[in-house]
Amino acid sequence: MVTFGLKVALFLGAFAFMEGFAWFTHKYVMHGFGWVWHRSHHEPRHGAFELNDLFAVVFAAPAIVAIYFGTSGHPWLLPIGLGITAYGAVYFIFHDGMVHQRFKVPLGKSAYWKRLIQAHRIHHAVHTKEGAVSFGFLLARPIRELKAKLKARGVQA
Ligand SMILES: [Zn+2]
Ligand SMILES: [Zn+2]
Repeated sequence: MVTFGLKVALFLGAFAFMEGFAWFTHKYVMHGFGWVWHRSHHEPRHGAFELNDLFAVVFAAPAIVAIYFGTSGHPWLLPIGLGITAYGAVYFIFHDGMVHQRFKVPLGKSAYWKRLIQAHRIHHAVHTKEGAVSFGFLLARPIRELKAKLKARGVQA
């Protein structure tokens, strides 16, 4: 029996897990063997899309599978699929909207959003596979810590 409380816990758990998963993937896959796709995101974009957008398609797959099975016999998978989807939506509004301004979205004015926007801009201060800092999206280290790290690597933020 999947109670309402369990559904909420699974939804929030999936959402929180995705930030950790996104951090890990960004640091070790995108700035690793996935650089062939991610590189396009650290260079000026030509046209509406970049090769890096393919990662969004890959990340959507487990959510689609979880929602499919969640609505056909495995109800506990539905809140997980929805949690992954919700993370994707918040990530998209924050990363592609607020930071990279690929579409119009009100900039987050709270200290939390301002710090996250700045942290991701600091990530983009490095245009190479190696040497970048701040791989998280909805969680980030304090700005002065990130700037100090970059400075130690000889990059001006
Ligand atoms: Zn990156
Ligand atoms: Zn970015």
